[in-house]
Amino acid sequence: MPGCFPAEPDSVSPSKSIFNIWLLGVKRLGWRFFLKERRIVQDYQLYQQILGIVGPWQVADVELRLEEGEVHVFLEHEAQAVWVCPECQAECPLYDHDSERSWRHLDTCQYRTILHAAPPRVRCPEHGVRVVRLPWAEPHSRFTALFERLAIDWLTAASQRAVADLLGLSWDEVHGIMQRAVERGLRRREREIIAYLGVDEKSFRKGHRYVTLVNDLTRGRVLYIADGRKQSSLDGFWATLTEKQRDGIAAVALDMSQPYEQSIRANLPQAAEKMVFDKFHVAKHLGDAVDKVRRAENKELLAENDERLKGTKYDWLKGREQFDLATWRAFCQLRRGNLRTSRAWALKEQAMKLWDFRYVEAARRHFNWWYRWATHSRLKPMIDEAQMLVRHLPNILTYLKHRITNATSESINAKIQWVKYTARGFRNPDNFKSAIYFHCGGLDLSPRAT
Ligand SMILES: [Zn+2]
Repeated sequence: MPGCFPAEPDSVSPSKSIFNIWLLGVKRLGWRFFLKERRIVQDYQLYQQILGIVGPWQVADVELRLEEGEVHVFLEHEAQAVWVCPECQAECPLYDHDSERSWRHLDTCQYRTILHAAPPRVRCPEHGVRVVRLPWAEPHSRFTALFERLAIDWLTAASQRAVADLLGLSWDEVHGIMQRAVERGLRRREREIIAYLGVDEKSFRKGHRYVTLVNDLTRGRVLYIADGRKQSSLDGFWATLTEKQRDGIAAVALDMSQPYEQSIRANLPQAAEKMVFDKFHVAKHLGDAVDKVRRAENKELLAENDERLKGTKYDWLKGREQFDLATWRAFCQLRRGNLRTSRAWALKEQAMKLWDFRYVEAARRHFNWWYRWATHSRLKPMIDEAQMLVRHLPNILTYLKHRITNATSESINAKIQWVKYTARGFRNPDNFKSAIYFHCGGLDLSPRAT
């Protein structure tokens, strides 16, 4: 059947076929030489494009070190390039070159990619001999801006160890990238007015060391971190503010901690009207007092084989919403028994109603009534609390005007927990501090090359 089989090839004479083979060979070899030449040129251009290298810089050589899994890219600049002084941006003549430096760049495929160049130096009439700014990296960095950016993006989402493993970096390199990112971010921070601040302490290494945090309660970010929890720890913060910023502070939430209070009084105009003792800190104090009463009473009851208070610690501390109906009923039953713990609990509940008032005078009347009750309760821990609260009352009542608490920093606290959890490599508080700024500072961290 025609068309079912391929046509038989034409018979060719031997001399013609030899000529054809030679022609084919010449053509192929020729193309290959031509292509090879072209390919190298294209490689350089490709690298130039991939690496984002722009004039006057160009790729002069690419060296593939297969065994080390590295690509080394050597950069040179055009002879006629125009340079500017890094300080004043004035055009200056080329003076000489610094010794060759290298920068880790984004990997090309799976190859670790390293740029090499000798940074030019200019002689500025005003600033003398200076190294010019390079378009791919910030001064003193051993990484290109794109690589640092990648590392920063990873660090915002993964633990330091994971990023170190993933990118083949040492701890010191990871910390260096974070540290530089934080410095950059803090430099870029705008001098805007921040109306509501929260001052808080955080422990580093299980309560052995503390840092003081100043938070922007409106935007939920950390503004300032200092070692310790002394007056001097907070004092450093005020120096970072302009006068306008200082005047723009409407209120500061803080624990009833004397060192912080002293620092605020010494540095913030009209501090007395602007300090707000934190509601949840007061609640914690009262909760501790209730627990003291419960512990003492439980001991006495157990001596008489009465187990009513056994295992009830958290029932006296949690809110109504944390009970289901059945456990709430059982708890109410327990409260109705003639227990000292019940009275302490009722005192705590009534004290916390202060925060529900709209008017200061009504709140003050409520407090006076409560204070008389508390001080006549014959419950030593509650009397102590009442005396502490009466001393702090003016700045508890400022809440009714400003309505701020440190609970606004809950999202910050959650992040700090994450920082602690994922960065067990902290060898010193500086790394801990820079990690907090990095994750909770709301900073613009990315490097920008020129
Ligand atoms: Zn200059």
